[in-house]
Amino acid sequence: MVGKIHSIETLGLNDGPGVRFVVFFQGCKLRCAYCHNPDTWNLNEGKDMSAKELLQKALRFKPYFEKSGGGITCSGGDPLLQPEFLIKFLKLCKEHGLNTAVDTSGFGSGNYEEILKYTDLVILDIKHVNKTGYRDLVNGDIEEFRKFTEVLKKTNVNLWIRHVVIPGITDGEKHIYELNKIISKFDNVEKVELLPYHTLGVNKYEAMGIPYRLQGIKPMCREKVKEIEDKFICVS
Ligand code: SF4
Repeated sequence: MVGKIHSIETLGLNDGPGVRFVVFFQGCKLRCAYCHNPDTWNLNEGKDMSAKELLQKALRFKPYFEKSGGGITCSGGDPLLQPEFLIKFLKLCKEHGLNTAVDTSGFGSGNYEEILKYTDLVILDIKHVNKTGYRDLVNGDIEEFRKFTEVLKKTNVNLWIRHVVIPGITDGEKHIYELNKIISKFDNVEKVELLPYHTLGVNKYEAMGIPYRLQGIKPMCREKVKEIEDKFICVS
């Protein structure tokens, strides 16, 4: 069995604790209006790689993981779209004593219990807080996200939560209140990161001939996001 892999970052510092070997899986079912990696969407693209091949590459960096408390992060696209391959790779990583993180929007194709058995940390991107907003912003049914979170709540996997704050769309008080309510239902939240919307990926859309849906919306002010975080977001 092979996986479809978009790319690899060997010394990542943002997607999990310590130094990370980040594997970007190819394929995503969502179409976030602000996605800066539309080149990861098509599941038929990407490079074929076996789990063993990926592991061999990752093991070269084991000394860095040990020194920094780092490990492997499966990101994307969305790694949950290749469940069998993901399980195989995560299992191999655990057999070799590597810390594992899954960076996801929680929008995959099932087998979540099995995936989470071999996952130490989930980095969960909460796209929106209600059905209509979810549909409009990322073109998906929030029920699939809820399926994943229901399984996640029954585990003791550590959780980092991310949420992109977009002016006029996801920055309102009521929205952040609803977000807090969702966050408060999880027991193992270690961190909540509000990420300011930016427009750095827009040129990819031009190059790929895809219309950019948030045309005219300015990047989110970092200070404002910090303010929202300090004022409204509480992790118990
Ligand atoms: S989930 Fe991630 S990869 Fe998929 S469309 Fe959204 S931002 Fe892009």
